Amino acid sequence: MTQRIVIVGAGPGGLATAIRLAGRGYQVDIFEAADRPGGRMRGFSLGDYHFDTGPTILQLPRLYDELFASVGLRFSDYVKLVRLEPNTRIRFWDGEYLDLTSDTAAFKAQLARFGSELPAQFERWYIEHIRKYKVGYEPYLATPVRTPIGYLKPREIAAALAFRPWESLYDHFKRFFHDERVVYALAYQAKYLGMHPTACSSIFSLVTFLEFAEGIWHPIGGFRALAAGLAKAATDVGVTIHYNRPVKQVIVENGRACGVELADGERISADGVVVNADFGHALTHIIPPHARGKYTDQKLNQMEFSCSTFMLYLGVNRRWDELPHHQLYLSATIRRNDPLWAKSAILDEEDPSFYVCNPTIVDPMNAPSGHSTLFVLVPVPNLRYQVDWPVVEQRYRDLVIRQMGKLGFHDVERHIVVERRYTAETWRDEHHTYLGAVFNLIHSWSQLGPFRPHIRHDGARNLYWIGGAVHPGSGLMTILEAAKSAVHFISEDLPLAQPIAIGR
Ligand SMILES: Cc1cc2nc3c(=O)[nH]c(=O)nc-3n(C[C@H](O)[C@H](O)[C@H](O)COP(=O)(O)OP(=O)(O)OC[C@H]3O[C@@H](n4cnc5c(N)ncnc54)[C@H](O)[C@@H]3O)c2cc1C
Repeated sequence: MTQRIVIVGAGPGGLATAIRLAGRGYQVDIFEAADRPGGRMRGFSLGDYHFDTGPTILQLPRLYDELFASVGLRFSDYVKLVRLEPNTRIRFWDGEYLDLTSDTAAFKAQLARFGSELPAQFERWYIEHIRKYKVGYEPYLATPVRTPIGYLKPREIAAALAFRPWESLYDHFKRFFHDERVVYALAYQAKYLGMHPTACSSIFSLVTFLEFAEGIWHPIGGFRALAAGLAKAATDVGVTIHYNRPVKQVIVENGRACGVELADGERISADGVVVNADFGHALTHIIPPHARGKYTDQKLNQMEFSCSTFMLYLGVNRRWDELPHHQLYLSATIRRNDPLWAKSAILDEEDPSFYVCNPTIVDPMNAPSGHSTLFVLVPVPNLRYQVDWPVVEQRYRDLVIRQMGKLGFHDVERHIVVERRYTAETWRDEHHTYLGAVFNLIHSWSQLGPFRPHIRHDGARNLYWIGGAVHPGSGLMTILEAAKSAVHFISEDLPLAQPIAIGR
């Protein structure tokens, strides 16, 4: 007899979990509120201009290869990736810039401009990280989360402590590179986690290292194509995806999740339910109050959520072929680390740092010939902090358009053909993201590893979480790792009579 699993949401975490479960022999149905897969990366079109909404940086393609291979498929049959060079150009407050690149010789040559000792320091840092990767990745990021006691393995602890995990990412890089510009350039990945480098643990320097060592990639057709590829693979291995079918409530009876009730009133029974909908949103909207376990409103109010993002999606009637795919402007404000700035609680209306993706240079089909699409992201406070978006939105948009000149996108206004904006409220209302906190729970010590919400929900049996809220964290790479763990826990709790022997 097979076991039926219902998954709420076809975001990356829901899709990856579905693929692995179906590969094991589970019967899997996904109910998705939207009309397409991908969640935050589902994208949209404005006429002939096609936009990614969320992720633009793909790391560790081998995780996708592994996921597809686990069910006998080949990732490259579904999605074509191109490697980007340089990885990202960082432009500083003083006009200087640094191209992060996997060509380490070229990178060291650039570093010499910032200080003659920096190339040798980079060499030291890189070699240390080859070891740190071995010690940190498998035991901490790629294994199902353990209880705090499960981490008390003397050899693992001794090895990990050698890398000073108590340090902040900022302090970590400052130890190697005295120049603040280089420090912030290498620590900017903290923003993937919705955090300031002074508040983020140095364990995440592994992400910086992985980008140097393995590069960053773009799926042809954009992350919309990645979402479509994951969804196609899921259906090819037997998963049924029901679009435009929002879940109203998870049904929990006698302390056990036993199905879902859809918005149209239909009830679907299941042996287990996996929630991929955003954690805070799901707790406050679809998990019945009696099954919330420790995640009461009071607890949720104590938890810390990431920043939000203000987004401009622009279709323009020209191309900027001379500018890189990924560019980031770091304003001097990035150096402010007093608590409100470090928490992204303040809207910078003077000189905001921002990021622009210029994907048409490698993926021209996303716009009419000679035109391009631009994706502009500005970190802004989540909705816990007061910003009157209906009042602020237009002037903020105008400021950001002016700022774009700092990255070489001059006179953009004149070239705009189509435009869409997102504020923190759009993320909340259209993507069901709690507080508009797009990078989910922050990765502070009190919300890491065993202190992050567990994949097994503690308020009901056979109810699981998958996505950015659970260990190991909120990016695509970590969510793919979490999907392996979800399948591990589900198959412990709901074993199959005859599991299929592929996958982990
Ligand atoms: C602007 C931005 C930039 C980012 N950049 C990067 C990047 O470059 N690299 C990277 O790795 N990550 C990046 N991320 C993070 C990445 O997008 C997220 O980690 C990822 O999308 C989260 O996946 P998830 O599985 O948690 O699901 P989500 O993407 O949150 O999807 C959840 C799904 O659940 C559905 N849902 C919600 N409620 C219901 C309901 N009641 N019934 C049915 N379905 C429901 C939603 O419609 C959605 O499809 C970025 C995110 C944003 C927003």
